[in-house]
Amino acid sequence: MPRPQRIALHHRAATCPGCPGRSHRARLLAALLLATVAAGCATNPVTGSRELVFMSESQEAELGREADAQIRSEMGVYEDAALQEYVAAVGNRLAAVSHRPDLPWQFTVIDSPVVNAFAVPGGYIYLTRGLLAYLNDEAELAGVIGHEIGHVTARHSVQAYSRAAGAQMGLLLGQIFVPGMRPRYGAPGLGDAAGQGLGLLFLKFGRDDERQADRLGAEYAIASGWDPHGVGDMLRTLGRIADTTDRRGTPNWLATHPEPADRVAGVAGSVETLLAEAADPSALRVNRAGYLGRIEGIVHGDNPEQGVVRGGEFLHPALRFALEFPPGWEVHNGAEMVVAREPGQDRYMLLQLAQETGYDLQRTAEREMTAAGFVEVQGTPSEVNGLSAYIGTYTQDVRGVGPMIARVAFIRSGSSVYLFGAFADSDGYRLIERDVQASIHSFRQLSRDEADRIRPNRVAVYRVGDGDTWQSIAQRVGAETVPAATLAIMNGFPANEQPLPGDVIKVVQPGREPAP
Ligand SMILES: [Zn+2]
Repeated sequence: MPRPQRIALHHRAATCPGCPGRSHRARLLAALLLATVAAGCATNPVTGSRELVFMSESQEAELGREADAQIRSEMGVYEDAALQEYVAAVGNRLAAVSHRPDLPWQFTVIDSPVVNAFAVPGGYIYLTRGLLAYLNDEAELAGVIGHEIGHVTARHSVQAYSRAAGAQMGLLLGQIFVPGMRPRYGAPGLGDAAGQGLGLLFLKFGRDDERQADRLGAEYAIASGWDPHGVGDMLRTLGRIADTTDRRGTPNWLATHPEPADRVAGVAGSVETLLAEAADPSALRVNRAGYLGRIEGIVHGDNPEQGVVRGGEFLHPALRFALEFPPGWEVHNGAEMVVAREPGQDRYMLLQLAQETGYDLQRTAEREMTAAGFVEVQGTPSEVNGLSAYIGTYTQDVRGVGPMIARVAFIRSGSSVYLFGAFADSDGYRLIERDVQASIHSFRQLSRDEADRIRPNRVAVYRVGDGDTWQSIAQRVGAETVPAATLAIMNGFPANEQPLPGDVIKVVQPGREPAP
């Protein structure tokens, strides 16, 4: 459903002009602060004891509704009605046996490649499609959802918003270039923990709250007929993700759920107690085959609707452009902008849609850069791969950073004007200048044909053959989608343990059409 789009790079975000999510977020924080002030006494639904709570039930409901609207517009709901229904059905069964069955529970799979699940007060539970790919059966799904329900039923208070650290300049860029988003809690796509740039993803619960949510998850799972081992199994898998050095895809579960390995042991005791009391433990559901059948075919990694990173290239089939960032740079695809960063350095490249498109390019450049506080040093009308452009060098004295250099191209492609440029302190800029020039001149329009060939990677089911190893399977299916070690983790195996012939496992099939 392509439509003209000026505000956001994420295709779907076109439905939220002006990006209301940002002001929602500010209001959300205000609501949280207010709720803290308005703390009173109430009965905890889980413990039954009177305690200090920070939100009335109506405040909780209001907060939930606001956050839900924000999450849906900013992160997007994964378009797969059958999958949504399936997850909701599992969730509703668990919620019905929880301590707060009467909340307006809502369970949503969001269209994000990161591995995470989170709960919002009021009964709103979200799972990323990235997480679903890492779960191995319905009992694990019930475990994750039960855990998140536990945070809501036990009314765990929000302890802290953690924000992306070490990306000061990035935050600054965000403040400069993304209109209507000040104050913000982390620029999308900047720093290690800001991949999705959504404050709610960084709500952090305390260690005790996590343990309690694990226990409640196991309790709700067994009460609704699922094997409570699923809680420990999913924690173990998520812990393995933590152990890998490949941190692409953060912020993930880890950013919000501390010490999974520790908690595996913690929940094991509760699970054994629950099983000892169960009437017929052998009747508890695991439903591996059913679960795999449900998630077969879901998108894995970037969704072409939002632009994909393939090799060194960022391709946006919906908006029909492609470009290359400097080699080795980390690329983060946020809702309002795509940001690449030289690892460990405060040197960035940024791509976003210019807001002012009713002028010629020189005038557009002048207006945008002036509004962002920059002064033009030099600029010329130019051409980039046949597209008209205006390329300039700009400077700005930034408090705490010093003189900052920006080399920015304004490129007209179709009905949009793209702002694509580099930002660094003046010394740093000299080091990246050559790469930046190459990047700017890599911007090109994608042909319809080329755009049509970009397909998302998808989860597939695979029967292990004789002599197969994670290595050989990854090789055969497409090692560029997920490496062997990740494949093992996705399937609930430690990396040093091989699958057995006949095992049915998940793999990730590359979406790219095979080369002719
Ligand atoms: Zn949790």
